[in-house]
Amino acid sequence: MAGMAEKGTVKETIQIFARVKPTREETSKVYSVNNDEAAGASVEFVVPKDLGDGYVNNKLENYKFRFRRVFDQTAGQEEIFETIAQPVADRVLAGYNGTIFAYGQTNSGKTFTITGGARCYGDRGIIPRTLSYLYQHIIQDSTMVYTTHISYLEIYNNVCYDLLDRQLEACRLEDLPTVTIMHDSEQNIQLRNLSIQQSANEEEALNLLFLGDTHRMTAETLLNKASTRSHCIFTVYLCGRQPGSATVRRSKLHLVDLAGSERVNKMALGGQLLTEAKYINVSLHYLEQVIISLSESRAHIPYRNSLMTSVLRDSLGGNCMTTMISTISVDKTNLKESMSTCRFAQRVALIKNEAVLNEEEDPVLLIARLKRENQSLRDELAMVTGEPRQEQLTQDEIQKLEVQVKDFLDDADPEATLALGTDLRKIRRCFTLLKTIVSGLRQQLTIIQEKLGRATGTGNELTPLSAVATAPGPRLSMGKEEAFEIFMRDHEDRLTIEDNKAVLKQRYIEAKGLGVQVNKTRDSINELKKQLEMRRIQRADQDHPEEEEQDPVEAIILKQVEAEKKKFKSYIGDLKTLRTEIQHVQLLMERAKVKLQKDFKEWWSEETPGPQDSGAPSRLQTGRPSPNSKPSSPGRPGSGGHSLSYFPAHKQQEPYSHVPSATDLRSFVPKIQTMQTPSGDRPASSHQRGGSVPELTPQLRDLSSIKPADYSIPLTGDSRIDDDILAFVRARQNLLQRRDTPQQ
Ligand code: ADP
Ligand code: MG
Repeated sequence: MAGMAEKGTVKETIQIFARVKPTREETSKVYSVNNDEAAGASVEFVVPKDLGDGYVNNKLENYKFRFRRVFDQTAGQEEIFETIAQPVADRVLAGYNGTIFAYGQTNSGKTFTITGGARCYGDRGIIPRTLSYLYQHIIQDSTMVYTTHISYLEIYNNVCYDLLDRQLEACRLEDLPTVTIMHDSEQNIQLRNLSIQQSANEEEALNLLFLGDTHRMTAETLLNKASTRSHCIFTVYLCGRQPGSATVRRSKLHLVDLAGSERVNKMALGGQLLTEAKYINVSLHYLEQVIISLSESRAHIPYRNSLMTSVLRDSLGGNCMTTMISTISVDKTNLKESMSTCRFAQRVALIKNEAVLNEEEDPVLLIARLKRENQSLRDELAMVTGEPRQEQLTQDEIQKLEVQVKDFLDDADPEATLALGTDLRKIRRCFTLLKTIVSGLRQQLTIIQEKLGRATGTGNELTPLSAVATAPGPRLSMGKEEAFEIFMRDHEDRLTIEDNKAVLKQRYIEAKGLGVQVNKTRDSINELKKQLEMRRIQRADQDHPEEEEQDPVEAIILKQVEAEKKKFKSYIGDLKTLRTEIQHVQLLMERAKVKLQKDFKEWWSEETPGPQDSGAPSRLQTGRPSPNSKPSSPGRPGSGGHSLSYFPAHKQQEPYSHVPSATDLRSFVPKIQTMQTPSGDRPASSHQRGGSVPELTPQLRDLSSIKPADYSIPLTGDSRIDDDILAFVRARQNLLQRRDTPQQ
């Protein structure tokens, strides 16, 4: 399928793969996977005849679809990465554009495959694994100098949003900056207003991914989970060149999570939602149109009909090596959609792309190189003609030299030179300048080392990172804090957070242990080196003849050094792996925290309607939160009643920030502690739901729903604080009441 047409051009059809999402249903009779066919692989469905027309009878019919490979339910994330993404990453490193896109109905595993699951490190998907792979290669390849940039955009309702905006604490998609598309005269597209951020290493790139994902999560509107209706495109821009060369290779890698491919007719939707579902469908419909036009080699390809097809223009029938992953669900109710996904893939497989090596001369680098050449020719000329020189350098010349030295030091190119010609005065002057700079740096280093020395004992280098995951945000008011603890106890993500916390703790211990081992090995290598030196001096003193065989003692020491070096290398490798895992888990926890805060805010605003929740984002009042934004198991009491110290750390203005901190308030109204009974004990089960007495003031209405014993809660007199306390009481009651209901 792939072939090199001419040097630097690869003609290839789009590669299609399928991945079956794990299910608990018995599905052995419904579908089968065969990966050992001469022509590749296939997945076959056995369904009632005419299922496609909605007419069902007892006859069965087989539908077979071919793929390059089909990953069945048990396939792991690493296998997916190695088979699908690694070859694409290799080509991107070689200077070709690459795209991997996931297509399938909502819930079929697109996000899980492209980004990964939020549960654990092993669930990380193609994006983080590809980043790891790319940066590993970049570090190891000393023949090239690379720069990497990243962008992350989301297309919803044909509007393009920048997910990497750092300025905004966006709570709605509409708060994110929008990106516009411009077509230049050669029909190339330019994305205006899209932030393309440099990321020097894996850590920075992962941070950007999580920043975008967090925006993506928090920007989901309540009524419609935008993520199922929007397309997300994560792009890595790679620029590589050989040191000293003006030829650069620029390549792009798009990793795309498309909107759910389900058709409108299957969705029981109405009103606003139907319009939106149709709209998204339109967007995928245009993708289909582009695919059909390409597969039939039509003259006109309607890329411009939608933003998504415009952005992915190169990936579809253009200068790109493209791979599609069809995510399918084999649950009986999803079979029709899954077959439609496979049918779509068969069309896609017909599309031919023509990827060219994106190599060009960088004019800036070219000019710099020519200038250098020009200067050295002048120098040579000066030498040959013996042009007279002053004894001393002029002030002007000295200043120029200073600039030159600065540029030289700033140049990232390891082979950069300081072109001074043959003028010895200039060479001497530059050495003096460099000496001054180095001694300044040495002084700074000593100061930093002293400071670091003082700081040891307060924690290792990982501490600041771990602090990120558990640092409390702005303190909440008393009522809200207590409610948050209850909410947290029952939240669906609590176990994941606790698991990850335990994993982190374990990894810190391991990292610390490894650190000790690394230091020990380093000391031991130094010790052995000293021994070796001593031995050599001794032998030199003893005046051994040159031709004598190698000293056996020296050989033993050298062997030991080698062994220690091996250990050292392996420890460093282990440390690096641990570091990546620790960072990933920390980011997972950070995201879980943001999700928790978001869910809590939604729940809180639902539980405490009225003037006191005016600080909640207005969108939260427009509808009920989605089911999973509530505690996942309202019918079950929390486990043991201990809660994690996660406090919402949102930078949005906290509506309760004017009240004293929780601890202040706690001492002010000590009785409120008695309200928090051990979990499982439900004192408020017989309470009437508050708010059923509309003629009362909010305060009285709250009080009317409290048992006589609860009247002992002293209020503070400050109406806003009191509102807050009462809101908590009411929210808690609602929660407890809801817990009761399902159990009866
Ligand atoms: P989509 O993005 O297509 O809507 P998701 O990737 O969000 O679907 O997957 C839906 C749910 O199924 C998520 O909870 C996800 O973690 C889970 N899931 C999907 N694929 C797998 C898989 N291969 N293994 C385990 N869980 C998966
Ligand atoms: Mg998704």
